[in-house]
Amino acid sequence: MSPRMLNRREVAQRLDISIEMAARHEIPDAVSEADVAALEQDPPAWLAQSRANRKKGGRPVWATLTCDVCGDSETVRPKKWWPQFTHVICDEHPTSAAPAPAAGTVRSTFDGVGSRFIGFVDAAL
Ligand SMILES: [Zn+2]
Repeated sequence: MSPRMLNRREVAQRLDISIEMAARHEIPDAVSEADVAALEQDPPAWLAQSRANRKKGGRPVWATLTCDVCGDSETVRPKKWWPQFTHVICDEHPTSAAPAPAAGTVRSTFDGVGSRFIGFVDAAL
């Protein structure tokens, strides 16, 4: 059995870098699990630098959206306009399927999150 290969997008997600950065540093489009683990264990200078910069509180490169109704998830590049979502659900569910907002909070709804999600932000009144 051949080892599972990760494509460049998957490698970028694992290393918490953009696909553009992975391409610039010649990450190939098929990398074995062992090679990704080696990059994580012993990062080259550019990767170590990127990680150091990230720790200073930059925005995350990747966000995982997970539906609070069915558990489907999608890993995407977060958008600048995204608030911190309290809940995310697939847009195929009725909004009433989302967990009810906590008492004393008011809910805002955001369509078009990722490719197929709706986001909710429950903020204190
Ligand atoms: Zn769902």
